[in-house]
Amino acid sequence: MTEREAFEQLEDSELVTYAQASLDYCKDMLNKCLKADIPAMITKPEDSERVHLLIREQDVEQVSTMFDAEWRELAEQEGSFQADDAQKIDEDFEGDLPCPACGHVAPLVEGACADCGLVLE
Ligand SMILES: [Zn+2]
Repeated sequence: MTEREAFEQLEDSELVTYAQASLDYCKDMLNKCLKADIPAMITKPEDSERVHLLIREQDVEQVSTMFDAEWRELAEQEGSFQADDAQKIDEDFEGDLPCPACGHVAPLVEGACADCGLVLE
């Protein structure tokens, strides 16, 4: 549906703010709603820095389902990045962990802390 058609449907309805986000993000959500024939509109209240996406209360569930699926996909993509990052950090730390006794951070000397001599290996 077009923005105009959406507006006509929204005019007499009870509206809820579904999301508050940047203009680009809200426009993207708006387009997805319209494409799915869910009437939606964006508005920017004067007292808000963010753009609001308004939909009808009865459409909240449908819109949530639609965006949930999308966010799950995003989260899965990000999840794999996080796993890689975590692994990378682990590798970076190897051999350079702070000594549990004195907190000295340096490569071990013969398997022991270079500062206090605590054997760590
Ligand atoms: Zn130490």
